[in-house]
Amino acid sequence: MLDRRPRLVFRPIDIPDLVAGVRSASELDLPIAVRGGGHSVAGHAMPDGGFVIDLSRWRSAMVDPERQVAEAQGGCLLMDLDVATSAHGLAAPSGTFLDTGIGGLTLGGGISHIVASEGFACDALTGAQLVTADGRIVEVDDATQPDLLWALRGGGGNFGIVTRFRYRLTRIGPMYAGGLVFRGATADVLARLFTLDRDAPDALVLKANVWSEVDGSPIAKVNVAWRGEHDAGEAAIKELTSHPALVEANLRPMSWLQLQALNTPWPHGLR
Ligand SMILES: Cc1cc2nc3c(=O)[nH]c(=O)nc-3n(C[C@H](O)[C@H](O)[C@H](O)COP(=O)(O)OP(=O)(O)OC[C@H]3O[C@@H](n4cnc5c(N)ncnc54)[C@H](O)[C@@H]3O)c2cc1C
Repeated sequence: MLDRRPRLVFRPIDIPDLVAGVRSASELDLPIAVRGGGHSVAGHAMPDGGFVIDLSRWRSAMVDPERQVAEAQGGCLLMDLDVATSAHGLAAPSGTFLDTGIGGLTLGGGISHIVASEGFACDALTGAQLVTADGRIVEVDDATQPDLLWALRGGGGNFGIVTRFRYRLTRIGPMYAGGLVFRGATADVLARLFTLDRDAPDALVLKANVWSEVDGSPIAKVNVAWRGEHDAGEAAIKELTSHPALVEANLRPMSWLQLQALNTPWPHGLR
């Protein structure tokens, strides 16, 4: 997709190292890009001739189960955060692919399997530590820097390098999830899905992909995530599972971590 050559890729060890890197980029007059999980298909983390700050060494996530808060380093992938939180029966609303970076995902919004009940990943962001373009270290929260926190919640990587994210967590129990495949009658399936989604409780999150087979016949794949026990989940989606165009159903009870691992990572470098 992209064929870019940065001038330099810098993997800082700690904050002083990172600050020194930012100052060097400024002295060399090179544009800085931050690489979190590297999932930006637009290539925002990999500018031609730029100074890439790669946070792949910064993947530690700590949880305070009493306060239901997680502190995660800026280079964490979803899997780092999910493994740390789920050990305490907690979750952050993050995303659906475990090798996505929490950095780009949170700063850009972040849509997860519990988006209807918990909002976007950026809604759960309660604080951050930033290194700014002039090398300053800034602690951000609602009390000290409300405008900056507001900007980080969806404003992208434009305000500094986030070295640490702080999230409000939610208690998470059993999930009932998987996929439904429909062949033909996809317009009717989507109409049912929209009605169901409009009236459903926030425990239900539905996502649909629609495409044509090689022979031109339409296919709809609906991803289902129900936050709760499986019998209530089955009842919540019976309008879809009773549709005559259903050809495949792959739904089962699972833990939050199993659901997060359902989408296996795509190998990097495919074109
Ligand atoms: C296979 C795949 C699955 C996806 N699934 C989901 C999903 O389920 N939900 C969803 O909401 N989105 C999803 N996305 C979109 C994804 O959230 C965005 O592409 C996001 O920007 C990726 O973040 P990253 O850190 O991995 O990417 P990167 O390419 O590393 O960075 C993306 C942008 O964020 C900036 N950035 C990253 N980390 C930091 C940091 N610590 N400080 C400052 N700036 C930073 C970078 O500079 C760059 O501008 C998916 C993308 C792919 C390719």
